Amino acid sequence: MSQNATLEVLEPATEAVLQEIPHAGAADVDRAVERAAAAFPAWRAVTPSDRAAALRAISDIVREHREELAQLEARNAGKPIGDARGEMDMVAQVFGYYAGSPERLLGDTIPVAGGQAWTVREPLGVVGLIVPWNFPLTIAAWKLGPALAAGNAVVLKPAELTPLTALRFAELALEAGLPEGVLNVVAGPGSVCGARLVEHPGVAKIAFTGSTEVGRSIAAGAAQTIKRVTLELGGKSPNIVFADADLTAAAAAAPGAVFGNAGQDCCARSRILVQRPAMDAFMAELERAVTAIRVGDPLSEGTEMGPLISAGHRERVSSFVDNGAPVAFRGSAPDGPGFWFAPTVLCPVGAGGTSSRAWREEIFGPVAVVIPFDTEEEAVRLANDTIYGLSGSIWSGDGGRALRVARALDAGVLSINSNTSVRVSTPFGGFKQSGYGRELGPHALDAYTEVKSIFYAT
Ligand code: NAD
Repeated sequence: MSQNATLEVLEPATEAVLQEIPHAGAADVDRAVERAAAAFPAWRAVTPSDRAAALRAISDIVREHREELAQLEARNAGKPIGDARGEMDMVAQVFGYYAGSPERLLGDTIPVAGGQAWTVREPLGVVGLIVPWNFPLTIAAWKLGPALAAGNAVVLKPAELTPLTALRFAELALEAGLPEGVLNVVAGPGSVCGARLVEHPGVAKIAFTGSTEVGRSIAAGAAQTIKRVTLELGGKSPNIVFADADLTAAAAAAPGAVFGNAGQDCCARSRILVQRPAMDAFMAELERAVTAIRVGDPLSEGTEMGPLISAGHRERVSSFVDNGAPVAFRGSAPDGPGFWFAPTVLCPVGAGGTSSRAWREEIFGPVAVVIPFDTEEEAVRLANDTIYGLSGSIWSGDGGRALRVARALDAGVLSINSNTSVRVSTPFGGFKQSGYGRELGPHALDAYTEVKSIFYAT
């Protein structure tokens, strides 16, 4: 792919071209890795307090440019402006949080014979970050924060559909004082630029967020050079509502948990399991909440759901709501240009329900499936009957039951009487084919450092 070609970046709410940018190819990746490798020795040698100050300055400059970045993200990803502002706040928080890390990369002292042994944490070198289009700058920040705090240099490859905030962020980080070459952005196709990062012998680690399918190829490719890999992949998360729960609260919160970001959220609680005695009351409340969702122009204040990311993606999501689909009810969506799709609730009944594509596959769009269950054991069995294990919710008025179920679910991030998954200070990541490694919180630093053991003979 020639680096002179341009990439047309679209606005999903209008289908118009938002910006044309240079289109990177494999040679651009090689140059970016070279620049990062050249910048790495000086960056790792920056004193911990100065590295911390650099991260704080990045946090500050993101706050100063919050509205500009939020507008860009809202337009390019088609997300409601209110959500985009919240995401920029999180980006700033992530850098603020990891600004605390350079001075807290602690090691151990270990009693041994004949001397003293202790451990230190070393940066990995040049790290490749490959991110998706659903939370473009936020997910990049989850990786950039700990990677830079630990003293690594990075090459960031944003998704080709949503590269704009990453490119602008790189300019702002330079302005904030991050040394030249420490952060490099290459905007180009995954099959070319992403694949080159994965095979490049000068890249020590790949941190990837995206689909399980691409994650598999990354794990296989990285094996050739024994690269470190962390994978944040797909999900098909359960939202389990017991009959003893606060049904009004559970039903009011359920739409946000699956239709937020138009369902393009790896943590989407897209399988809703409802205990049978509560089914009718829950469905009535859910219908009220779903039909009230304000779907429309991402830049209008008060919009709750925008369009899907692309025409191709809308086609894929539509395939789950074909003519025979068991639609219980749908919300609204605008007509005209834009990749719109109305929030949709399916309620397949009978034995075919849990074998349906809609129940088993990640839809990554505003389509939820509701299925009833009878017992706690059945709820756990249904919830775990998936290749994924990213997140999930348990709604119950019985604390003991909620804790039992939380321990029994094979998933990395769970919430009780809440549908929130992501906090800057707590670990985030999946079980099973939702990936491995943890982002955010104190655990993320493990994925961007090597432990070195040193023995000093006395
Ligand atoms: P995707 O896997 O198609 O692409 C993700 C990134 O990988 C993009 O930057 C893409 O260009 C790049 N890529 C594509 N092919 C590649 C290859 N062969 N080698 C290297 N890089 C390649 O995913 P997407 O469609 O952008 O995002 C949707 C998926 O991401 C969903 O499955 C969703 O669940 C997942 N996701 C997971 C999380 C999480 O934290 N677990 C968060 C957000 C999204």
